[in-house]
Amino acid sequence: MQKINLSLGFYEERPWGKWAGGMEADKFRKRYFDFMSSFLEILDKEEVPRTLFILGDYLNNFIGDAGENAVKELYATNNKLNDIQQHSYSHDIIRKIEIRPEKEIVSEDVFADDIARGHFTLKWGLGINCNGIGVPLGYDSDLGNHARVLSQIRHLGYNFVSPNLRSKESLEAHLTAERQPHTYSDADYPNLVEIPPHGWQDVIFTKKKAEHQLNGRLHTPDEIISHYTGLFEKASKMKQDTAYVSLCLHPWAMMEYDPQHDIWKTIIGNARKQGIELVTYSDIANKVLRQE
Ligand SMILES: [Zn+2]
Repeated sequence: MQKINLSLGFYEERPWGKWAGGMEADKFRKRYFDFMSSFLEILDKEEVPRTLFILGDYLNNFIGDAGENAVKELYATNNKLNDIQQHSYSHDIIRKIEIRPEKEIVSEDVFADDIARGHFTLKWGLGINCNGIGVPLGYDSDLGNHARVLSQIRHLGYNFVSPNLRSKESLEAHLTAERQPHTYSDADYPNLVEIPPHGWQDVIFTKKKAEHQLNGRLHTPDEIISHYTGLFEKASKMKQDTAYVSLCLHPWAMMEYDPQHDIWKTIIGNARKQGIELVTYSDIANKVLRQE
């Protein structure tokens, strides 16, 4: 019988950079802290494993504001359900993104230094060694032609990377037989796994992103639920013995489109009813590496 694995990746990032200072940022961080505390409490109660991709700059500011103990309590590293990984330090990109033409790119060397900084910021702030990275904004292909970045990722000892987060024309990444986890053997990194997420990046369910990219069309809660449960249905029709569905989610967006956590409780409940196993991104990397 076919097995479906579902992994939830939550991007912990706002506010960062120039938005991280001032009263508004302080207020937002307080609201965010409360939102994440209640959301993670629900996931704990339901025993849902999850991957938290934390931006270094955000963590730095968060610790400066809320204090080390509170942040360590939120991102408890001794909680086996938490798979804590990095999302770079500064949220830079190395390739032009068609639907974000205003966003400047940095060189591979600058980005390589930035992910080392992200790594050491999480080590300093949370006392952990990450083994994977969710790449900022994401591209419509893997990092196969970015040798400098791949070598840095392996140098840090990572076994997975998640950069293939969108299609060319939108923030929706398609679920196909090709877009499944695989190693970078072709680039001579057989111990590094590419994990491509599927479906919409959930930021599209916020008013601002919908205005920018969907002519203002906002999804209803039912449509959001059907979008993700539709992915499970699609996975069940794939030929693979094990099909992977990975999601790219943003709690700052969830604060707007799912403030009471009802949507995500329903989606997780639906997945469990269908016998789908919830795993972390690290679990996927380990499963793929064991098979090859
Ligand atoms: Zn991000």
